Formats: sequence, C-alpha cells, structure tokens
Amino acid sequence: MEGCDGIRSKLLDRIERAGYDLDRISKFNVLIAGMGTIGCAVARILALYGVGKLLLVDDDVVEIENVGRQCLYELEDAERGKEKVLVAKEKLERLMPGLRVEALNFTIPNPLSPAVIVEIDGKVYGYDASENLNKIEKAVKSSDVVISGVDNFNTRRTLEILSLGNGKPFINTGIEGTKGGVRTVLVDEDNSCIGCYQRGLSWLKGGYEVEPAGGCTVASLSTIHIAAAIAADNFIKIVHHKNGEWKFGKPANFTSFDLKTNKFNSYQFPKDVHCEICVKGVEKYLREGSSSLLHLDYGGNQQ
Ligand SMILES: [Zn+2]
Repeated sequence: MEGCDGIRSKLLDRIERAGYDLDRISKFNVLIAGMGTIGCAVARILALYGVGKLLLVDDDVVEIENVGRQCLYELEDAERGKEKVLVAKEKLERLMPGLRVEALNFTIPNPLSPAVIVEIDGKVYGYDASENLNKIEKAVKSSDVVISGVDNFNTRRTLEILSLGNGKPFINTGIEGTKGGVRTVLVDEDNSCIGCYQRGLSWLKGGYEVEPAGGCTVASLSTIHIAAAIAADNFIKIVHHKNGEWKFGKPANFTSFDLKTNKFNSYQFPKDVHCEICVKGVEKYLREGSSSLLHLDYGGNQQ
C-alpha cells in the first residue's frame, strides 16, 4: 500500500498542474463555522485542494433529513445520532491523507438569544456563553481564514467581529431557493461587512440585477454547491495573494447569483464608517475582549 505522502501527491497532482501552489495551500488553517449544507460542501472542496488544517464548529448531531443535502453524512450516521463535527472529521481525514481536522462541538453564542443553563432530572441543558465565546475566539485566533455557513445573522456578526478583530479574512455564505450569495471581507481593505451590507442594500434601492439571498434557508442542491464553490474559490484567491498580486483574481466583496434567471453579479458595497460590526463592534472587541460580544447592540433584531 502506498504511503500517505504518495497518495496525497497523486490526489493533488491535477491541482498543482493547474498552477495552484500546494505548499502555500497546505500552510493554511481554515475555520468553518456551521457544518450544515454549505459547511460540508466547502470543507470537502478545501480538503481536496490540500488545505493544511480544518477547524470545524457545530453543535448538532446528524439527522436523517440532513443526509440528502449535507454531503459528508450518511444514513448510518443519522441512525447512530453521531455528532456532525466528528463524522465530518472522520470522512475528511479519510478523503485526503495528511489533512488535519479539529472537531469542535459547541454552540457559538448568539448575542440576541442569551444562553440559559437549566437542569432537568439531573441533566444539564444549555451552555455558558462566556466560555463558548472564549472557545470560538481561540479557534478564530488559530485559523488564517474564517468561513461561515451558520444560519442566523447574529452568529455571523459575532464571527465577523472576531475575524476582523483578529486580522482574519471572513467569508460568509447565504442561500435561499435558487439564489445564493457570498460576501468576503478582506483585512486591510475597504471591504464592507454584513452591517455595511445591510445599509448598502437600501443604498442600492433595488438597483442590483440579482436580488441578494437571505440567510441559509431552504435552497436547491445546485444553489448550495455553487455558493460553497464560490466561497472555496475566494479562499484559494486569498491563499495566492502575494506581493500585492492576485494570481487567481481578487475575491469580490459580494457575489450573488440566481439560477432561475441565470444571472451572476459581483458588487463592492460602500463601507459604512459608522458600522456597528466592522467599525464599532471591532473597536469594542479590541478594547473589552470577547465579553463585549455577549450583548451586541445592532440597532435591530434581524435573524
Ligand atoms: Zn461594516
């Protein structure tokens, strides 16, 4: 049987021949938050690109309805009620020899739904929000790029502040029906974040060709995989950014598509200098630490 290195180099041969820098890719650690539809698909692509390490965060177990849409899980995993991150780790490590995967099973706190710990019949439910914020902060710090496949705006905001506050590019995905969107916020660039983006939507006043998708809701299988592929490609673009050159292009601040109308568009949203996330949120986080993320004031309550 061929050794791990031999198999790995055979699996990555076409990637290298296509001009990608395997050495650079293998030095990146990527945090994927949310191992649902998009998270599974992105993780699989990054594994096959030869990324160094994946840190996977999710608090769910595999259920039967996940199996048809979340490409790393099988019926047997659902029948046994296995943790998503553990199943994903096992599958990905088997898929690409040499890939390191850290399975992190915990809930990323949502600042607008404070965590409550209750004890029923001797069993403890809920979680300690401060403790979990420390966990996600540590995971962000030990990664080079953060990709979000979580399904609510507020958790995305927490991830975005932690990423930007620690100088990590942040890639967010959203899908809805036949529509999908990928937002990428680069560090040291005048990129708008999710807070700026929401202001940008009203600024555009419907002037966009493709109406942006909402959160991660019900979407077609094709939509899921295209959004995941764009997110993975933006990661590859970031990896190959060297000496001011974008060898494989520069990630768009926002890419949206609608498979129903066959349209794909990319936008640079205006930066909101008063943004509650990428400006005020990051400043507060740098001043007060992760406890500042326990209760965020966004001036709104969008799920
Ligand atoms: Zn912003």
